[in-house]
Amino acid sequence: MDHRPSAGRRRAASAVATGVMAAVLTAVPAGAAHAFTGGNHEEITRAALPWQPLTLTAMADARDGAVNADDRRPYFDIGPLHCDNADYLAPRYDPRYPRTRARATAELLACVRSAVARFRNAVEAADGLVDADGRVRAGQSDLSTPCTWSGRSDRAKCAVLEQLGRGWHQIEDFYAHSNWTDRAAPGPIGPDNPPGLGRTDVAPFLDIRRYSTMKEADWIRRARELIPADLTTGCYPDADSTGARSPDCRGRVTHNRALNKDTAASVRSRTDDDFRRATAGATAEITRQWKGFEAALRAAYPEHRRGERMICALTHDTPATACP
Ligand SMILES: [Zn+2]
Repeated sequence: MDHRPSAGRRRAASAVATGVMAAVLTAVPAGAAHAFTGGNHEEITRAALPWQPLTLTAMADARDGAVNADDRRPYFDIGPLHCDNADYLAPRYDPRYPRTRARATAELLACVRSAVARFRNAVEAADGLVDADGRVRAGQSDLSTPCTWSGRSDRAKCAVLEQLGRGWHQIEDFYAHSNWTDRAAPGPIGPDNPPGLGRTDVAPFLDIRRYSTMKEADWIRRARELIPADLTTGCYPDADSTGARSPDCRGRVTHNRALNKDTAASVRSRTDDDFRRATAGATAEITRQWKGFEAALRAAYPEHRRGERMICALTHDTPATACP
């Protein structure tokens, strides 16, 4: 089967995404917790961002931070928002593995696609932080009352934080939910013990800033070339990008029994320092993502140094006085 992207497939994919959302809203089963816990998302996000305290808390807080908004329903049950279901084992490990490499890659690309969309939304929302002459608009960056993550914020700063946070959530999850950084346990490789890639670099196919400036067909082609053949995430009983669920994940690399490093006590955290590897990878990644966002604002809003002022307004708690 030809898995190269085409206009028809892209249209089908966005129809599918709408369908996934509809399916999720009507059928929400109970599921075991998945993703780094809110507390781990908070630690990673705080370690990565050189922001002032109130703003950093709005982004990172274990319960109410923007980065944790996608662990609330209905978002919790949408696999691509957690980089789930991109599971695969090569024939040398399992000649009868029930999913193809192409299918796994499609799920991972759905995860990247939603991060790209959030990134673009965040760049657009930042326009409201600063007026046409480059002055910070005080009311738009005021955090004296909390932001709500409803997609309909009354302040530009809240809107940017929401889009960034929702886009970063799954990128952090990728490091806890995939074998990118980790090591396999001793013994045979198989669905319960997939290979570990042991990588210490940020994943090159999560270059969201770059992809946000490219046509979808082009970045997908590029990302596809960069995804290693042995990369896997875990099957989870949420909805994959086609809207399908696999409640028992039979015969597959699972999130719950094989691969996740959501906490220090998780199944794959028991091998070596796999939990530390995942958190270190996610932290380096969010550092890169923030630098990419800063660069995108400078590039999108060069006139009157507006992009620079947007960065100041985003990172400071009282921009009206801190960003003259
Ligand atoms: Zn998650």
